Amino acid sequence: MLPRIIAIDGPAASGKSTLGLRLAERLGYLFFDTGVMYRAVTWAALERGIPISDEAAVVALAESVQIDVRPPSQADGRTSDVLVDGQDVTWQVRSSEVDAHVSPVSAYPGVRRALTLQQRRIGLRGNVVMVGRDIGTVVLPEADLKIYLDASPEERARRRYREMIQRGEKAEFDKILAGVRKRDEIDSGRAVAPLRPAEDAVIINSECMSAEEVLSLVESLCRRWEATE
Ligand code: C5P
Repeated sequence: MLPRIIAIDGPAASGKSTLGLRLAERLGYLFFDTGVMYRAVTWAALERGIPISDEAAVVALAESVQIDVRPPSQADGRTSDVLVDGQDVTWQVRSSEVDAHVSPVSAYPGVRRALTLQQRRIGLRGNVVMVGRDIGTVVLPEADLKIYLDASPEERARRRYREMIQRGEKAEFDKILAGVRKRDEIDSGRAVAPLRPAEDAVIINSECMSAEEVLSLVESLCRRWEATE
């Protein structure tokens, strides 16, 4: 049997989503990117004029807002549809404004409690590749295979820069690098569910690896898991 629950964690722009999506396609599993849920709450707070510093209001929003993550309905490069109270906000949640505010929002314990519960329910159904920061440590500690994908901030900023240029967006490398560093600092330093590898995670440094090389390495880890079960 293949691993039924696969957790992929790592810092911003480490290639988790690319790896997770391709792996899920190969295995016929659900791909679930938990980052979009934190992004959805952040987008909704900005949209409604709720100050990001107002913890109680942001937590109340996280508890009440309806977030749906569904298989992609359009072939415009999206990996899933993201809906907030029925509105398609798939691309809005990727804006630089959301990028700049999502880490403080996701550091609020009440926000994490609300979203972790939903993520865990989905993950426990199995046949899932779940991607985030705390999947192997908090959301699904019982995952069969845990991957922690890492690379230097410079390499991650280069990848993010190339992606944005390819999409025809304006991009400034120095700003992206500063943003990546800032998010690393908040994600790793927060009190609840900080970014760190689970004790039983396989740590992959993808610095000098292509996306294909990372995928085949993880596929071989799946086969090795299968052989030992
Ligand atoms: O993965 P992505 O960059 O889209 O995640 C956006 C932000 O959401 C992260 O910088 C982090 O602050 C937060 N996040 C989290 N826990 C997760 C997934 C994302 O705190 N499981």
